[in-house]
Amino acid sequence: MKIFKFGGASIKNAVGVKNLVRVLNFEGTKNTFVIVSAMGKMTNAFEKVVYYYLNDTSELKNSINQIQLFHQDILSELFESEHLIHNQVTQLFGQLQGFLIQNKNKEYSYVYDQVVCYGELLATKIVSEFLKDSGIKNNWLDVREIIKTDSNFRNASVNWEETQLNTQKLNQQELYITQGFISQDAKGNTTTLGREGSDFTAGILAYCLEAESVTIWKDVDGVLNADPRVFQDTILLQQISYQEAIEMAFYGASVIHPKTIKPLENKRIPLYVRSFLNLENTGTKVSKGAQLVPKTSCFIVKKNQILVSISAKDFSFMVERNLSSIFELLHQYKIKVNLIQNSAISFSVCIEDNYSNFTHFYKELNPSFNVKYNENVTMFTIRHFNSESIKKIEKKGILLLQQTSRETVQLVIDEKN
Ligand code: ADP
Ligand code: ASP
Ligand code: MG
Repeated sequence: MKIFKFGGASIKNAVGVKNLVRVLNFEGTKNTFVIVSAMGKMTNAFEKVVYYYLNDTSELKNSINQIQLFHQDILSELFESEHLIHNQVTQLFGQLQGFLIQNKNKEYSYVYDQVVCYGELLATKIVSEFLKDSGIKNNWLDVREIIKTDSNFRNASVNWEETQLNTQKLNQQELYITQGFISQDAKGNTTTLGREGSDFTAGILAYCLEAESVTIWKDVDGVLNADPRVFQDTILLQQISYQEAIEMAFYGASVIHPKTIKPLENKRIPLYVRSFLNLENTGTKVSKGAQLVPKTSCFIVKKNQILVSISAKDFSFMVERNLSSIFELLHQYKIKVNLIQNSAISFSVCIEDNYSNFTHFYKELNPSFNVKYNENVTMFTIRHFNSESIKKIEKKGILLLQQTSRETVQLVIDEKN
């Protein structure tokens, strides 16, 4: 079985949905499992709904209307006015309204998962019906019946045994259209696998179904040696190893979700990253031990970092006891650490404050330590660096910190000046 994953960029409008049909017609649908995420930027739009629901209900109706209009426009381009899809979509919006009215639990992450899942549910209904109209028979599947997780909302952990068991119910001869990103806990609540998690869904299902390959369809030719939104003259990586892909995703290359690779590597399932526009192109193949082809420096950018430098107030050394209390706080405030550097009297961390907790962290540290920080800095990681590639990055601003290992150099740069 082959697994295809189509992200939001591939179905951002009606033309995208028609193109998905073109891809399936080109590739064939035999033994294929299709995973679809929310259309365009709909997950961001649903995040706004959650925000208004919890913070400012005067804007709530408007935020839902905008999402309805977005889908309505696509429906009117793809379907006749009496098509049953209109009812299905109305029903989904009705369910969402029902949840928002009846729900008593105002815990952000819980509400988030119960609401944002509609992006994926809507997208898959639309794609499934449009495929049927285009002569491609398929089954719409609610992936929450298959992928079971714990109740860690917004970043749920997969219950692999249960999920594996559930996949046995699937008929591998059928074409399924299902959602990425969403899952379900033991109480029947919707959970999600973390932003951009649809790639991970492909990894989970590929692992459980022992798929022959996974293909992620993108608006770029494959995995490039740098983010094309930040760098010009990017180079297509024709083949990379699982290890390289894990390293790149770990350092922040947003082209593949970091958790996707491990399940594939465990079963040696190759991952292809291909362009949904240029179907003749072979894209990037990610597989076991593959040499990097072509051998070139790869650049990964992480914006909006905070570089924090911490030292003891009494000029004592930064030793295990101090460090463990700092890490305790980082963990407590769910602050992601992207780089660590330690010297005798100071400890530097480059962090990402995804949950807006930095002020609390700072306040707790401040009585015991001297804390200095630079906000809004950029962390550049270069894999397979050389002096030329380092120079290219150094030009981007003031270098605040650099760390080098055998294959990787990381530079924290203040680009504002
Ligand atoms: P999808 O909606 O399919 O998940 P995304 O927009 O999340 O797609 O990811 C695709 C985008 O990732 C590309 O358009 C590209 O701008 C960006 N990107 C960042 N780093 C890389 C990279 N190293 N190689 C390819 N694309 C990259
Ligand atoms: N729709 C989700 C997101 O935007 C998951 C995904 O696209 O992979 O994060
Ligand atoms: Mg994405």
